[in-house]
Amino acid sequence: MEVLANMTRELLRVDGLRTRFYTDEGQVNAVNGVDLRIDRGETYGIVGESGSGKSVTARSIMDQIDSPGEITAGEIWYRKPELADTIGDDHPDAVDGDRVDLRQVPAAVRRSLRGTSLSMIFQDPQSSFNPSVTVGEQLAEAVEVQRRASANPRSTRARSQRYTLGSMALGQLLPSRRYVSPESRERAIELLELVGIPDPIERADEYPHEYSGGMLQRAMIAQALAGEPDILIADEPTTALDVTIQAQILDLLDDLKAETEMTILLITHNLGVIARMCDRVGVMYAGEIVERGTLEDVFDDHVHPYTEGLLGSIPDLDAQRERLQPIPGNVPSLLDHEMDARCRFADRCPKAMDDCLEPQPEYDTDTSPNHQARCVLARREYDEGRALPEGYFDDAPPDRESQHERDEANRRAADRRTGDDTGQTEPPIDGPGGEQP
Ligand code: SF4
Repeated sequence: MEVLANMTRELLRVDGLRTRFYTDEGQVNAVNGVDLRIDRGETYGIVGESGSGKSVTARSIMDQIDSPGEITAGEIWYRKPELADTIGDDHPDAVDGDRVDLRQVPAAVRRSLRGTSLSMIFQDPQSSFNPSVTVGEQLAEAVEVQRRASANPRSTRARSQRYTLGSMALGQLLPSRRYVSPESRERAIELLELVGIPDPIERADEYPHEYSGGMLQRAMIAQALAGEPDILIADEPTTALDVTIQAQILDLLDDLKAETEMTILLITHNLGVIARMCDRVGVMYAGEIVERGTLEDVFDDHVHPYTEGLLGSIPDLDAQRERLQPIPGNVPSLLDHEMDARCRFADRCPKAMDDCLEPQPEYDTDTSPNHQARCVLARREYDEGRALPEGYFDDAPPDRESQHERDEANRRAADRRTGDDTGQTEPPIDGPGGEQP
């Protein structure tokens, strides 16, 4: 019974998502098998350092990965009964009951869902607005596009901005014709009011540079709400703002969530924002979710040393701590030829043991039903006797390329010993996987 209730609450489920970028240095595995389950009406947080893959995960869900990037694997199941009914006959593999796999539906359907079902706001509102068009007109445009997208998914093929030189010149000559329609202008003003912009009628006719940073962030949220989405993805929505404005924007998101019953996926590097806003949280490191659970699970009962490191590196006014504890080392390379199957945090982990060199699955913890961690410590205690020696990763970087070079050198040495080469003998190269004498 509880399983059934959990399934119907589930609004979005991501399974095994992988996103790659093809660069001159090689293939970058930015998202490496991410699984997520987001329930209707909750705020789910993803937290991690810069470069951990949080934003790429969000953009992958929104189908906004451009070349040289590509989503190479995974399923994104979204509960939308009307859509499942509509496309079920033509695309049976893309439908499972009342859910659709966004990776398998046609691109036009995916585009039609952008804004109307899933919407996204970004860190920098300046870059999301056209500086030469009034905020009200841009909101009205978003309203109009979403209205057309809901009526006919194919119409979103012509979603390009209408701001050609000709239409802008006409708009200057006949300002009253600038809005897409009077209804769209009215809705744009309503949206500005909804997000707390004072004097929305006058403000609608102002340009982005006339707004403060906080007001522009509000306007961007209004734009994202134009299509009344089920899920709002907020990617670092407060990072570019000063502290008091940050608090106002977080309050606004909370109020909107209560008012519109929206579900929020919040991406941030700030654990304080997570603590304030989220019901559940996933901690991301090197393209993987390494620990997930409720706020209590992750803040009070964490398992993964990376989570512990993140929590130890934030100031706590009540704690009698002399210094903050930064996490030593750097985020590892995500280049495919430099990645190894072992725990990606091992070379920074103060509790790394010999069995951490094996690939780590995601383990359920004993403490809470939905608390999982990709770490051996979910299964066993730390054993100092099995700790890796200090400098282990400095002395013997266990990457595949080094292993390959060692194998090649050993093969050449073996050839020489058997007289295939110069006839001279040569000892085998030391290191994991090296040939034994
Ligand atoms: S698996 Fe081992 S190395 Fe990785 S985080 Fe856990 S204890 Fe540290």
